Amino acid sequence: MQQGPEWDVAVVGAGPAGLSAAHAAASAGARVIVLERAEHPRYKTCGGGLLGVSMRLSAPRLDVPARDRIHAVTFTHDGRRGFTRRSADGPVVTMVQRDDFDHAWCRAAVRAGAIVRENALVRAVSQDEGTATVALADDSTVTARVVIGADGSAGVTARHVGVVFDQQDLGLEVELAASETDRRRWRGRLLLDWGRVPGSYGWLFPKGDQLTVGVIMAKGRGAETKRYLREFVARLGLADRVVLRDSGHLTRCRSDSAPVRRGRVLVAGDAAGLLEPWTREGISYALRSGTWAGTVAAGGGDLSEYDRLIGADLAPEMAAGRRLLSLFGRHPGLVHAVLASPLGWRAFTRFCQGDFSMARVLRRRAVDVAVSLLGGRPAG
Ligand SMILES: Cc1cc2nc3c(=O)[nH]c(=O)nc-3n(C[C@H](O)[C@H](O)[C@H](O)COP(=O)(O)OP(=O)(O)OC[C@H]3O[C@@H](n4cnc5c(N)ncnc54)[C@H](O)[C@@H]3O)c2cc1C
Repeated sequence: MQQGPEWDVAVVGAGPAGLSAAHAAASAGARVIVLERAEHPRYKTCGGGLLGVSMRLSAPRLDVPARDRIHAVTFTHDGRRGFTRRSADGPVVTMVQRDDFDHAWCRAAVRAGAIVRENALVRAVSQDEGTATVALADDSTVTARVVIGADGSAGVTARHVGVVFDQQDLGLEVELAASETDRRRWRGRLLLDWGRVPGSYGWLFPKGDQLTVGVIMAKGRGAETKRYLREFVARLGLADRVVLRDSGHLTRCRSDSAPVRRGRVLVAGDAAGLLEPWTREGISYALRSGTWAGTVAAGGGDLSEYDRLIGADLAPEMAAGRRLLSLFGRHPGLVHAVLASPLGWRAFTRFCQGDFSMARVLRRRAVDVAVSLLGGRPAG
């Protein structure tokens, strides 16, 4: 008698996408293995700002290791015209260090029944009619009914599936040791700065004894990105703080028609190029796509349901984000002014809290026309 594969689901990568996938699949009763090249807790270049959507998916499954909860946001435009707005109804963003957060998700996936194998570098994925096989650097293989690729923005699974990326950005960050004055000054408040280069922006995120300061802009302008970060840190009066970590990472957004699955191999999170094109927020995209991938993979039914979920929910949000990025690139001063208004601030907080969909708002005729006239035309 022919035997089935040892695993129902093999997940490549133990970030938010892979661990939420493993959690969902194991909770549904599937035999799940996660293959991660590093060892948790591991550092990941990331602002660690969790939006409401990410909190809703995480809080029921783990104790979110929050370093701060943000109730106020200061906005500046190239360091000038600063203003601060405060939320009257709860935190706007929750701050985590990614090593803590991902480690907590890892423990949750294990509690749900997944096996996590660390120091397991995946080199390639292949598949036939009934199974998918992952080849590891130590020459071993793992065979499963379904493979979920969640190995980040430069992983091997995106290549196997043929994901096409049409936006690439470089994010640079420093983790700074916060003085007592810094802690008092920034507790509960973050800062966003709209940069000089179209589409770029910078952030200061407080995390108790650390401050995460970063900038992001289109790939291919490395020297300008570095200069922006250096000047931003100096402008914030933080140039003499001890740098605990200094790192960079590429973010890549999929094109609208790119596949998120090939046969029995599904990709989720950054591996699928799923992140918000304007803010480059990706944790909520990783958690949503990971949860769907895990649920569909464990269900044993038609895997194309995963493609449908991405197409119905995340693809329209990304299309809206592309339009807003285009508008923002042309008119950062206008975006700054809108955020200063009560309506603009309300929309911002509701977006961050997860009660507001950019795609839904852009479907309103008047908004759609106004955004198009200002240069944020729909693609195609
Ligand atoms: C500078 C910067 C700031 C950001 N700030 C924010 C923010 O504040 N909020 C937000 O929501 N998003 C932010 N993002 C985006 C966010 O970091 C990503 O979207 C998110 O990490 C995606 O999660 P993931 O699980 O898909 O991938 P990852 O978190 O990258 O996890 C991938 C995992 O796969 C493992 N792996 C990779 N290759 C292999 C392999 N071959 N074999 C085995 N394992 C492998 C890696 O070690 C890693 O653990 C930021 C991104 C950048 C670059």
